[in-house]
Amino acid sequence: MIQTDIIIIGAGPVGLFTVFEAGLLKLRCHLIDSLPQAGGQCSEIYPKKPIYDIPGFPSILAGDLIDNLMEQAAPFKPGFTLGEAAVSIEKTAEDKFIVTTNKGTQHEAPIVMIAGGLGVFEPRKPPIEGLENYEDKGVEYIIKDPEFYQGKRCVISGGGDSALDWSIFLAEKNIAKEVALVHRRSSFRGHLDSVQKVMDLADAGKIKLITEAEVVGIGGNGKVENVVINHLTQGDFTMETDHFIPLFGLKPSLGPIADWGLEIDKNAIVVDTLDYSTNIPGIYAIGDVNTYTNKLKLILCGFHEGTLAVQSAFARIHPDKKNVLKYTTVNGISGF
Ligand SMILES: Cc1cc2nc3c(=O)[nH]c(=O)nc-3n(C[C@H](O)[C@H](O)[C@H](O)COP(=O)(O)OP(=O)(O)OC[C@H]3O[C@@H](n4cnc5c(N)ncnc54)[C@H](O)[C@@H]3O)c2cc1C
Repeated sequence: MIQTDIIIIGAGPVGLFTVFEAGLLKLRCHLIDSLPQAGGQCSEIYPKKPIYDIPGFPSILAGDLIDNLMEQAAPFKPGFTLGEAAVSIEKTAEDKFIVTTNKGTQHEAPIVMIAGGLGVFEPRKPPIEGLENYEDKGVEYIIKDPEFYQGKRCVISGGGDSALDWSIFLAEKNIAKEVALVHRRSSFRGHLDSVQKVMDLADAGKIKLITEAEVVGIGGNGKVENVVINHLTQGDFTMETDHFIPLFGLKPSLGPIADWGLEIDKNAIVVDTLDYSTNIPGIYAIGDVNTYTNKLKLILCGFHEGTLAVQSAFARIHPDKKNVLKYTTVNGISGF
């Protein structure tokens, strides 16, 4: 049994920063994440994209932000259970919680902070027969490192910002040898600027734009070698490629947390903005996973929520102690 002061479910940016804020109050944290690495959406979906609205950083790559948050949390020695999903929670007679993962690892603490973001990541997959046989053998649902596609032929499909942005990135920076963007409609859902840029790159011969078409088949010997595209008027044709990258977004799903007796509204956990507590005393929800009036799913808002939630957690754990806010400039950081 792993014992700690605060169990944080979700090691995304918000969970990581909460470790730091809890550490300032001498509270220890242990993070659980179903992904094999920390960083949440920043590491899993867009590690190489610059973020422009982190206070004090005019621009920072999402992956670098996570590296910095890990460094900032390090003095407080957080524990990690990675690659395991939190599936159940129970209350003990001592007013603590036991959180158990799908692999049976148990964690005990008086406080649970759910920083589960979008939930367990589930990419939307197109219904193509045998597609799963090519996963990680040329089929990727998320672009983690664009350099992986250096000199390769790529077929991207989708009509949103992700599909547009990555087609532009891989073509404009001359990373991929060939970029084809396949979309089933003639208009796109993404930003107008991005749509215009794709059109310009298509005119310049850097993107092969195939609209009113869908990828309907995939082939290759042990790895992707071609896809079959069905065009509304031209019918089926085969295109040679090294990668097929369907970018249809992620299915938001709270997963098992939805059955823990928490108040849920539209797949998010309802919290009191006083301290981001849920309807179950001792359980808090911070970051993208929570909802309240005027909620913004932004990293900086999650940082604020985690900061206030640990103050409330401190009062629950130490009802007899008064916590006085101390500036880090005055007290510095004294880790564990
Ligand atoms: C393409 C893109 C661009 C973005 N750009 C910006 C931007 O410019 N500025 C900005 O502020 N925000 C941006 N965002 C949003 C930002 O990434 C999120 O607001 C932020 O990641 C939320 O952090 P979080 O820690 O709450 O959740 P997440 O980053 O979603 O992390 C949650 C973690 O919880 C884990 N988890 C969930 N359920 C369980 C469970 N049951 N057991 C174990 N682990 C679990 C997940 O695996 C995940 O790792 C962007 C998002 C995307 C997709």
